[in-house]
Amino acid sequence: MEKQIILKASDAPTQWYNVIPDLPGPPTPVLHPATLQPVTPDDLSPLFPMSIIGQEVSNERWIDIPEEVREVYALWRPSPLVRATRLEKVLDTPAHIYFKNESVSPAGSHKPNTAVPQAYYNKMEGTKRIVTETGAGQWGSALSMACNFFDIELQVFMVKVSYQQKPYRRSLIQTWGAKVFASPSDQTNYGRQLLEADPDNPGSLGIAISEAVEKAATDPAAHYSLGSVLNHVCMHQTILGLEAKKQMEIAGEYPDVVIGCVGGGSNFAGISFPFVADKAAGKKVRLLGAEPSSCPTLTKGPYTFDYGDTAKMAPVVKMHTLGHDFVPPGIHAGGLRYHGDSPLVCQLVDAGIIEAKAYPQTACFEAAITFARSEGIVPAPETSNAIRAAIDEALDAKKTGEKKVILFNFSGHGHFDMSAYDNYFSGKLVDFEYPEAKIKAALANLPKVDM
Ligand SMILES: *Cc1c(COP(=O)(O)O)cnc(C)c1O
Repeated sequence: MEKQIILKASDAPTQWYNVIPDLPGPPTPVLHPATLQPVTPDDLSPLFPMSIIGQEVSNERWIDIPEEVREVYALWRPSPLVRATRLEKVLDTPAHIYFKNESVSPAGSHKPNTAVPQAYYNKMEGTKRIVTETGAGQWGSALSMACNFFDIELQVFMVKVSYQQKPYRRSLIQTWGAKVFASPSDQTNYGRQLLEADPDNPGSLGIAISEAVEKAATDPAAHYSLGSVLNHVCMHQTILGLEAKKQMEIAGEYPDVVIGCVGGGSNFAGISFPFVADKAAGKKVRLLGAEPSSCPTLTKGPYTFDYGDTAKMAPVVKMHTLGHDFVPPGIHAGGLRYHGDSPLVCQLVDAGIIEAKAYPQTACFEAAITFARSEGIVPAPETSNAIRAAIDEALDAKKTGEKKVILFNFSGHGHFDMSAYDNYFSGKLVDFEYPEAKIKAALANLPKVDM
């Protein structure tokens, strides 16, 4: 038995998989935030290149990966699939646990899988500058690397608390050449308005998105880019699931359950969507999204139309949401803090094809440490949600004696997140269930859509 299942470069996928033709119904409409009418390509063209807009609404099941993109992917892809035999031993489980190791990318996560094609398509259409937001800095660093390879200028609005507390990710973004602003900033009308009301506004992902969208929409030479949630982002991430599927075949196994952590939904989409078609064809496979119980969008947020950002500038989409003005509790350490989720993931949850569970953060850190002490790699706090879910599945199998095959996506390493580990070790991390009353209050501000 091989510990690492390596896919040869010559066997790397040459197409991404688009789940839209395999959905149980048509995809839900995307609405203009001002008119609440379906958006047109013209509405989106100030923000995205036409090729990306085309991918966002495409009904083609397979989309070719451009050669220039595959050449950059080859710097770290195909990534290894690893059998977690040492973890299996520690858990004393009959289950077989496999993880797809996306921490081997230069930025340390799955995010470059979409950053690279997004930079490429922008370059092809003559974009001079891209504007984006970043929470803890993973997306900003991935896109900074990609823009550097394709010679595009990048501006990153980084949530202010992270800008102050996570200086090394900021330095990483700068190393690859991008410019970073702490958000809220004085660079946009929206940011200046917020700073006037409260100069110490700590920022949020929703605010940073609003600033980036405003900056991109008002600069004719600029486009906007998003690191999760959107259909084309989920599609680019299927590269990792398609590789994993081939690698499972090499290992001679098929997963009973496929697991990923869920923030905006893109790495989970990447690992799980290639199995959706199998499931539609009658294959037995469970697809499980793992989210934090302090930001429980899929498990507690109603499935309804909501704005994509705090300032109501981004499109309105149908998703599980905690309300567009959701701000995660300050004690929440593990990222995955977006108020909504990918509409495609939500539609599949609603149809019962994907299941979701929420996990408290101390149990996730405990799982992350078990993993680091058995398999060696220190997980990102986000990834620890997937590890918790995988370990729970393996412990269930131990009770029943089932030879369950578990596949999870190891979305990234935690080398820049050691302060969260420090907080865990010193007992400062506590569990927090996001209160129902707060969810109810936020939902009072939903757009009134009759569809
Ligand atoms: C960004 C990130 C996530 C969450 O984003 P998704 O779009 O839900 O995949 C998870 N893990 C790591 C390591 C990340 O950087």
